[in-house]
Amino acid sequence: MLQQTQVDRVLPKYQQFLAAFPTLADLATASTAAVIDVWVPLGYNRRAISLQSIARQVLAEYDGRIPDTIEELLKLKGIGRYTAGAIACFAYHKQVATVDTNIRRVLHRVFLGLEHPEPKVNDAQMLVLAEQVLPAGQAYNWHQALMDMGATICNSGNPLCGKCPLQASCAAYAEMSQYSLFPSGTVLRQLRKVAEKKSNYQAQPFTSTNRYFRGRIVDLLRSLPHHQRIPLATLGPRLSQSLANRIMTGCRKSLMA
Ligand code: SF4
Repeated sequence: MLQQTQVDRVLPKYQQFLAAFPTLADLATASTAAVIDVWVPLGYNRRAISLQSIARQVLAEYDGRIPDTIEELLKLKGIGRYTAGAIACFAYHKQVATVDTNIRRVLHRVFLGLEHPEPKVNDAQMLVLAEQVLPAGQAYNWHQALMDMGATICNSGNPLCGKCPLQASCAAYAEMSQYSLFPSGTVLRQLRKVAEKKSNYQAQPFTSTNRYFRGRIVDLLRSLPHHQRIPLATLGPRLSQSLANRIMTGCRKSLMA
């Protein structure tokens, strides 16, 4: 739920979701429509669908118990290396590394320097680094601390280096101190601007993204009386002409495939 969604929005939904589906079996046997219904308005409904398919797979293949090793967790459809590591570390206290956005940023800054204009390592190399620096027997506390650091002090746009306990050993801090624009927030903003200009980054308006239209479709379907369906040809124009065009193009492509 927390992937790309803020904590305050997730907390009430988390409670509602657990109240509606208190066990894996409840989640697995519910209709997918009911699961999405509880999930909305968090967005990225694919996460709810994945969660339900994982619950079904765990019941069918693991006797109802979520596995505790990275290898087995990765066999669950929808679970990637980060989630597998997080489950193994936080739920089962395994000594494994995991890298989310906050952890990546803090490790990158402390050990490698600034992540702008572009990161110095790719995801696979970052995982190797995370495994190398993992303190023995401390995986749980270590990851909690890194996540907290990333969320509260070493944040993305305006790190509070003046309050940071890692300042003396931080490679990014040493780098930023050399810029005349110091403090850190100003340095980061300037570096980002340069990187964005370089890549000619053009933000797509939100109202023309797939995510926007997915949300509108789910809202419309939820507003229909129970079990009522709506033909694709009617759905598109109800939302917008551009979506109608997209749907027709999608249909034509599937017919020709
Ligand atoms: S000194 Fe600044 S950049 Fe380095 S870890 Fe601390 S907050 Fe982040």
